[in-house]
Amino acid sequence: MRIGAHVRQDNDPIGRAEELGAEVLQMFVTDPQEWGKPHPHPLAQQIRDSPIDVVVHSSYRINVASLNNRLRMPSRQAVINQAQAAADLGAFGLVVHGGHLRDDEDAATGYENWRKLFERAADKGGFPVPILIENTAGGDNALARSLENIERLWEAVGDFDNAGFCLDTCHAWAGGEDLVDIVERVRAITGRIDLLHLNNSRDEFDSARDRHANLTSGHIDPDVLVAVARAADAPVILETPEEGLADDVQYLREALS
Ligand SMILES: [Zn+2]
Repeated sequence: MRIGAHVRQDNDPIGRAEELGAEVLQMFVTDPQEWGKPHPHPLAQQIRDSPIDVVVHSSYRINVASLNNRLRMPSRQAVINQAQAAADLGAFGLVVHGGHLRDDEDAATGYENWRKLFERAADKGGFPVPILIENTAGGDNALARSLENIERLWEAVGDFDNAGFCLDTCHAWAGGEDLVDIVERVRAITGRIDLLHLNNSRDEFDSARDRHANLTSGHIDPDVLVAVARAADAPVILETPEEGLADDVQYLREALS
């Protein structure tokens, strides 16, 4: 099982990953708060050639489910652009959040929008890397919060080979899903977990808040997190606070050995 972390040092991702002892790294290809088209990374060759596996996290403003054209259209384009940038780095996937709707919007249309994203890409030969849809914590109108919603999402996108799943433990916990057996329950729906975001939570169960904590310092029993990692048997990315990140990598490696 490959263990690594989200690397915030965009100018030297491999150097930082090596410092952390990571075997896999996650990075952005644009400012995560912006829409801007990604620029070719100056170290793309080094990133591609490195034995450290790479996955890209898309920017936070993306909401491909939105019923608002002015949000959905640029979101689709951003996924296309960032998937290409991910492929250029040799990444094994692009993580995209499940997204959310407004109170008065119809969820069925939101799931339909997810399907259209893949359908339109398929017409043009498909995405160059799998799109790993991540469960989120907050709000009653999130499209990938509860397992029930993930089931609806998978009914919409499950036929597409390049629709993958990224399970975030902090989000599942804060979203009110018991972490015991979460891997089995997700797999029963999606048939796959392509990536695990292993994070503890600064908030209580079902809080709907999204604040990550270091592995041994949040509300989730660290043993439960280790058990989830073992069961998922997928690459693990830690998105925990920077200060304890290297300790988290080491803690997890020892716990799994
Ligand atoms: Zn995450």
